[in-house]
Amino acid sequence: MDFASVLARIKEASPKHRLDIGDPDLPPPPEFVEALRRVYDFRYGPAEGLPEFREAVASLFGVEPSEVAAVAGGRHGLAALMWAFRRRRLLTPSPYYPGYFEIAEVFGLRLGLVATDGGWMPSFTERGVYVVNYPNNPTGVVLPRGKVRELVDVAEFVISDEIYRDIVFGEFTSPMELSSSVAVVYSFSKVLSVPGLRVGAVVAPRELIKEVVKFNKATVNVPPTPVQRAIASVADILPRRRAEVSETYRRRAELAASLLKLEFVRPGGAFYVFPRVGDDMRCFEAALAAGVSLLPGSLYGDPRHVRLALVEDEERLKEAFTAVNATCGDPR
Ligand code: PMP
Repeated sequence: MDFASVLARIKEASPKHRLDIGDPDLPPPPEFVEALRRVYDFRYGPAEGLPEFREAVASLFGVEPSEVAAVAGGRHGLAALMWAFRRRRLLTPSPYYPGYFEIAEVFGLRLGLVATDGGWMPSFTERGVYVVNYPNNPTGVVLPRGKVRELVDVAEFVISDEIYRDIVFGEFTSPMELSSSVAVVYSFSKVLSVPGLRVGAVVAPRELIKEVVKFNKATVNVPPTPVQRAIASVADILPRRRAEVSETYRRRAELAASLLKLEFVRPGGAFYVFPRVGDDMRCFEAALAAGVSLLPGSLYGDPRHVRLALVEDEERLKEAFTAVNATCGDPR
């Protein structure tokens, strides 16, 4: 079953617990909502992003504003970068975020897969341009610093999808800390719980920023200016917000570890768990019948696992986990 059919099936079943798509349930920060309400300027802006937005992102990342481009969400930034590297060998670890393949398909690109071990750790041995995502969707794992070193040592270039970099439960090393041949794709969707607003940023060497701007011009031209303005005006709340969301999702991941009678690698960030169930479609259907939607791992390249998005409060999650244990659970 493809993504659209799975979602149609979920809609039809109308389950009590929606643990399928990664739509954050935490409300957006009130300061940001207020800032957005105050914006009364809907004009075009520069294709590379408003100066105040580029400055705000640059200071978050410790780079120059010229090394930042605004994009219409993380996925748009990923598309821009995969297009920029369209003539190179592209590689990504499995399991993977299906968006990479949707992008590759429209550009007619091949995306090679890199195998991972039981702890979801890839072996980086081949030369090429890597698209990596840590904290990871669907597994939640982060790479230890030594693995990031292995990656940057072998990669010709790294496209680092850091959509979940603000939701971390311990150490997180961005490849950007270890190499200059790295472009980071960042997004405000998850940290601010605003995936519908469509704003993110690419942080990369200047030459590559020029390619991203070209891609902007060919597609959205100007990423949403009112949202850029609102973000720039409240950028100082981000460190606190980051700590709050990390703590909330960390507690939910702990709850999953203590209550789910399924084996999974403990996540180091993001808001997913990816337990082993044997047959993903059987578990998907059984859980759905018991009122919980989750996603079959085959959508991520692995039919032996399922993905649960921890996007309900702890009380509701407890109820959902009970239903999942009763339908997909093998005793540990
Ligand atoms: N990368 C990953 C790994 C994701 O999980 C998502 C959203 N689920 C995105 C990119 C795209 O997010 P957005 O376009 O909303 O920034």
